[in-house]
Amino acid sequence: MTYQELKSKEQTYVMNTYSRFPIALERGEGATLWDVEGKKYIDLTSGIGVNSLGYNHPEIVEALHTQAQKLTHVSNLFTTAPMIQAAETLVTATGMGKVFFANSGAEANEGAIKLARKYSYDKYGEGRSKIITLLNSFHGRTVTTLKATGQARFHNYFFPFTEGFDYAEANQIDSVKEKADESTCAVMLELIQGEGGVLPLEPSFVKAVEAFCRERDLLLIIDEVQTGIGRTGALFCFQNYGIEPDVVTMAKGLGGGVPIGAVLAGAGCCDVLTPGTHATTFGGTPLMCASANAVLSVVNDPEFLTSVREKGAYLRDQILGLGSAEIRGVRGMGLMLAVLVDPDKRAAQVNALIEKGVLVLTAGSEAIRLLPPLTIRYEEMDAAVALMKEVFV
Ligand SMILES: *Cc1c(COP(=O)(O)O)cnc(C)c1O
Repeated sequence: MTYQELKSKEQTYVMNTYSRFPIALERGEGATLWDVEGKKYIDLTSGIGVNSLGYNHPEIVEALHTQAQKLTHVSNLFTTAPMIQAAETLVTATGMGKVFFANSGAEANEGAIKLARKYSYDKYGEGRSKIITLLNSFHGRTVTTLKATGQARFHNYFFPFTEGFDYAEANQIDSVKEKADESTCAVMLELIQGEGGVLPLEPSFVKAVEAFCRERDLLLIIDEVQTGIGRTGALFCFQNYGIEPDVVTMAKGLGGGVPIGAVLAGAGCCDVLTPGTHATTFGGTPLMCASANAVLSVVNDPEFLTSVREKGAYLRDQILGLGSAEIRGVRGMGLMLAVLVDPDKRAAQVNALIEKGVLVLTAGSEAIRLLPPLTIRYEEMDAAVALMKEVFV
């Protein structure tokens, strides 16, 4: 079917919840994609940070193929090896306690919120349930994680929202302290606000939040749904900041293209959730965990993580090297980058890039966000930058 035929059926049969780019994608290889009409694109989006190893990665394909022949799903009423392997890798790589598997980022955050509230309930009783998040954050689209998201535009239509969230200013420790009272049980942060504009938090602020959480016995929850799994040049971004969170959530890049999320909890709180208090039918299912194991076997390697940092630095330098007056700067970490542009020109620039054959994302009001596959080749980055040069004159 052509793009037009697909689009017309989509309009008939699929809920109109996304303003999609006018492209129907069909297949991919590495960081290169082809649409149904055979046009080629360099992908700097990874399916929004999901396809961490790009498309048609041999280890992921092999893992999915082999596992699909053995067992795809059996429920959490039985023990399965791929889940245990994934959990062991995550725990060993971070020195944290135990893992709960979910299916998406919002669901992982929902699990972390439940864990924090029960931790506090078990220890202090009722009334200590408030979670402080940051203004301009993004934590998901469920009724609870929308409210955890510190942006008023997300707090519409779906009333009543879950209570118990308050929002502090990023990089202002006094704001966090001001919002915290005897009803607070946790602080939840993205170390680099992704949807909010690729805004890395200041290390001194993050350290101060960590110290404050320790002082008050608040759980420090780090939302690594976008920053995790090698994206910033460390397996988890919290490792770049040298902190020890109580809870780390992840999803996007973990499965390398299949839906899986996880809540990783430290030794002090990893036994809080118990039978009957938290569950999900699909969580930790063998097929998804086999894919996650393939991703982790590649990404959890110091040399690979070094290559992510090197590629990120290269891409940043090449983009700045274009010397375009339309580019106001590049910020971010590893292969999570933002090209800063005039907000009024951004939509036209993004459309022009996509028309030329470079897929990009946006974030905040002034960022063209780049989340290329971590396996992107230098030739692919060069091709993308050459096409950018035609747009940013
Ligand atoms: C994408 C994202 C989420 C939501 O993940 P879903 O899988 O879409 O539910 C939560 N937190 C952050 C930081 C994200 O980037």
